[in-house]
Amino acid sequence: MLQGVFVVLFVLDLALRSVGGSTIGLRSWPALGSVVVLVACAAAVLLRADRVPAWAIGVVPVLDLAALGLSRLDSLTSGAGVLAVVPALWLGRQFGRTGAAVAVLSALLLLVTPGLLYFGVGGITLSRALLLVVVVGWSALAIVSALERARAGWDEAERGRVELAAALETIEHQRRVDEAILDTVDVGLVLLDGEGTYQAMNRRHQAFMRLGYPDGHAGRAGQLGAVYAEDGATPLEHEDMPTYRASQGEEFDDCRIWIGHDPRTSRALSVSARSVRDEHGTFTGAALAYNDVTDFMQALRVKDEFIASVSHELRTPLTSITGYVSILLEREDLPRQVVAQLEVVDRNTDRLRRLVADLLHTAETDERPMHVVRARTDFTDIVREAVGAATPAASSAGLDLRLEAPDTLPAVVDRQRMAQVVDNLLSNAVKYTPAGGRVRICLGVDGDRLDLAVSDTGIGIEAGDRARLFTRFFRARHAEEQSIQGVGLGLSITRSIVESHGGRIEVESEVGQGSTFRVRIPLDVEQPARPV
Ligand code: ADP
Repeated sequence: MLQGVFVVLFVLDLALRSVGGSTIGLRSWPALGSVVVLVACAAAVLLRADRVPAWAIGVVPVLDLAALGLSRLDSLTSGAGVLAVVPALWLGRQFGRTGAAVAVLSALLLLVTPGLLYFGVGGITLSRALLLVVVVGWSALAIVSALERARAGWDEAERGRVELAAALETIEHQRRVDEAILDTVDVGLVLLDGEGTYQAMNRRHQAFMRLGYPDGHAGRAGQLGAVYAEDGATPLEHEDMPTYRASQGEEFDDCRIWIGHDPRTSRALSVSARSVRDEHGTFTGAALAYNDVTDFMQALRVKDEFIASVSHELRTPLTSITGYVSILLEREDLPRQVVAQLEVVDRNTDRLRRLVADLLHTAETDERPMHVVRARTDFTDIVREAVGAATPAASSAGLDLRLEAPDTLPAVVDRQRMAQVVDNLLSNAVKYTPAGGRVRICLGVDGDRLDLAVSDTGIGIEAGDRARLFTRFFRARHAEEQSIQGVGLGLSITRSIVESHGGRIEVESEVGQGSTFRVRIPLDVEQPARPV
């Protein structure tokens, strides 16, 4: 292409010179120069063949420079020398710094020297000639340096492209690994964006979705479908849907739901959610995990049914044993030894009766909220009775049992249930305190709440166990290790009674130092101002 440009400019120069008045004859220097240009053109065409060595193409611009040298010989003032820039650019572009050197050398020998020999070394001629060589050299070097910079840029860009491709490949590989891992786990996983749109889910969750949304899902959090509450029957409201709650930034664990219309195929899921936030703490989405707990839920149901039916079956014979034992104990004609033995039977029957009552209670209250019948009662009376009942056990265990309570403390509570609360806390304090220890019960009023604290100097409860203390059948490690008898129901029943009165139960404890269980419930009656 450069040869084409050169030919056009060369012809233009000749034409302009003719227009300017010069006559260019067939036997003139410019005509000879034109012949050389034609030779250069022919060489340019021929040297395009593949087998020709790369340097050979350099002959063409050198011939161009020679043609220019010849065409300048008819007039010292010809501007044709400027065209030398074209072959200089060509040489520089093609062969780099070597090409620039060849351009300068060719300009000196072929372009300038013939003129100097022909016209003689006049002042102007020499300066023009040298200027021409400088321009040629500068042009060649300019393109060399431009090309070098461009090449450096290309290399940089290429390196960047290669690194980017490698990074993309790594990310893609990691994505496939993550996908494989997420598909392997037996937990449904969902990722929501900040607007509550589904971003991704694993294969396990796709199966859950088919069950919960047989007619399809629009990919937005909170869509209603065959999704039910923990009872397996109440359809979930939009606001209660785990995805909706998570999309509002809520974090939770063990939210139990059922999915699926058909009870034979429906599954129980335990859902956890965590928020995703950016580096500024702004909510950008949520991740949810759905754990299949169907077998666990069914096992719980079976266990509760079993407990309920066994407890019912035990209650009838127990009632009859209690009845006959008390009839026997009323007799006056029994030997003392028999009475003592009957009293042992009576005590143990009473223990059994309480245990059965606890089991029944547990099985029943799990299904529905506890029913309490409140009435105005003197709470001090309840506590006094409980202390009276616990005193024999406390003394035989070598414990110092003390009560601090106002003379009366009216409260609107379920007397029987509250007696059970005080009994449970007190019997635990006695049971878990070694001989020589102290048990204290403090009853008072804190604002509009009744405040009952049962403290002991017993074995204490480890911090890790405290959170699960009120869970059914839970027994702390220390109690198990020391083989202290119990089934782990008392505190769970105690809590449900307290909560059904709108109250709270808390525990403070230190291993080896003792524990304090504190119950606060609304009094619901006007209290006369009294010192507590
Ligand atoms: P149980 O006493 O029949 O095991 P509870 O539900 O009453 O069941 O208590 C649950 C667990 O809490 C007990 O097993 C025991 O480990 C722990 N605990 C309860 N009260 C105390 C206490 N006062 N001191 C130390 N541990 C206690």
